[in-house]
Amino acid sequence: MKTITIAKGDGIGPEIMDATLKVIKASGAQINYEEIEVGEKVYLSGNTSGISPESWETIIRNKVFLKAPITTPQGGGYKSLNVTTRKMLGLYANVRPCKSFHPYISTKHQDMDLVIIRENEEDLYAGIEHQQTDEVVQCLKLISRPGCEKIIRYAFEYAKQNGRKKVTCFTKDNIMKQTDGMFHQVFDEIGVEYPELEKEHWIIDIGAAKMADTPEVFDVIVTLNLYGDVLSDVAAQIAGSVGLAGSANIGETCSMFEAIHGSAPRRAGQNMANPSGLLQGAIMMLVHLGEIEAAEKIQNAWLKTIEDGIHTYDIYKEGISKQKVGTNEFADAIIERLSQQPVKLKAVKINNKPITLKPYQRKAASKKELTGVDLFIHWSGTDANEIGHRMNSITSTNLKLNMISNRGIKVFPNGIKETFCTDHWRCRYKAENGKIIDPKEIIELLSKTNDSKLEVIKTENLYNINDKPAYSLGQGQ
Ligand code: NAD
Repeated sequence: MKTITIAKGDGIGPEIMDATLKVIKASGAQINYEEIEVGEKVYLSGNTSGISPESWETIIRNKVFLKAPITTPQGGGYKSLNVTTRKMLGLYANVRPCKSFHPYISTKHQDMDLVIIRENEEDLYAGIEHQQTDEVVQCLKLISRPGCEKIIRYAFEYAKQNGRKKVTCFTKDNIMKQTDGMFHQVFDEIGVEYPELEKEHWIIDIGAAKMADTPEVFDVIVTLNLYGDVLSDVAAQIAGSVGLAGSANIGETCSMFEAIHGSAPRRAGQNMANPSGLLQGAIMMLVHLGEIEAAEKIQNAWLKTIEDGIHTYDIYKEGISKQKVGTNEFADAIIERLSQQPVKLKAVKINNKPITLKPYQRKAASKKELTGVDLFIHWSGTDANEIGHRMNSITSTNLKLNMISNRGIKVFPNGIKETFCTDHWRCRYKAENGKIIDPKEIIELLSKTNDSKLEVIKTENLYNINDKPAYSLGQGQ
């Protein structure tokens, strides 16, 4: 017997969790559970994280966590429990299968069957934000090589284990050449190790449009955190309903399984909600725990229930559905079909082995040379030439002003008056002929800028890494 942790959450959470646990029990899966309390009650008792330290201990001890949706109270500085759990437990991979069940669940995409594997820990979700000037705020997008390697390797392994044929990488590396560029590069590097799988890369904007239009051309999609967040909701919705999709959050030692939808408070306590999303999360959990037989049994019984037209209100359609049922009755209908296979929908055969990844190996250190610095200045003037002349007069032994940009667009020298400028100026200083500089020169520049009554709000060092500039040019430069 394996022991997992469960949390019934808020809104429709307790009803869909009870229905899910009832089905798991009837399937003969060898699991016990320990229940913890998370969510609204915990938040409102004054705990801004929505979870107590004792509950954390339970989750860490049992390693596998099945969580119903929770309500995050608006305002009051409450932290999203989902984001905290993913980051604290290092759940780096978010896996969301999105499949249509035509003709039983209405969808415009009859042959859709894709899986989105979203990086779960990095990107803009690091939540490192600052107000820098009166007019400008910043959010740092951090992408790491270990982060890219883990998620991309996971996506390839997932594809291999699940008999998938193709892995598609979505990035915006035509614009973000460093961050998204690294993700794409790691995809190409690791892809070489999987010659049996087809590989492709799409720019996220046209890729997302293509996915919304013709999802059947995609198989496994791997992408960064923010794109994956948006894309996976679109994919679940166009497959038929957000109420049907489950998701797995996988880490090296712990994992969390859930429905993708929220706590739907308006439907709570009425025996109306569809438990399918949480049940799909639970099926992924059973596979993860090696309870393959139970997982397969439940999945096929669920498909048969859907095929028999026994539907909750959210997927009920006159002419297709046969019987409108509540949460409880839907679970009972699945239990009645636990030894049956679907007839028209394709029965599922699961033959996964657990996915184990090679541990990350740090590469030899790069050749890293300091060649300049970007000084970010808060200045309320509007004339780029004026700040340009002021910054031109500030130099160190080797560092001279190279250009000034405003929100990334070069405005000095030779800017044009049509470019709108805020109070946030990036002044790039470089040594002539790519000379390597001493960090003390940056301190000298900072001191002189301060003496000339200009406020430096931040600096970024400019490095050459392995003899190549490792920073972006100003737009228009
Ligand atoms: P929601 O997903 O709860 O509801 C969106 C719509 O879908 C509603 O019309 C709802 O009735 C319907 N719906 C959702 N799940 C359903 C189900 N299983 N069966 C039938 N109908 C279903 O999104 P929301 O209304 O934006 O959010 C409500 C609360 O949920 C908020 O407090 C939000 O913070 C929280 N939330 C939690 C999670 C989570 O815990 N993983 C995820 C998203 C939202």
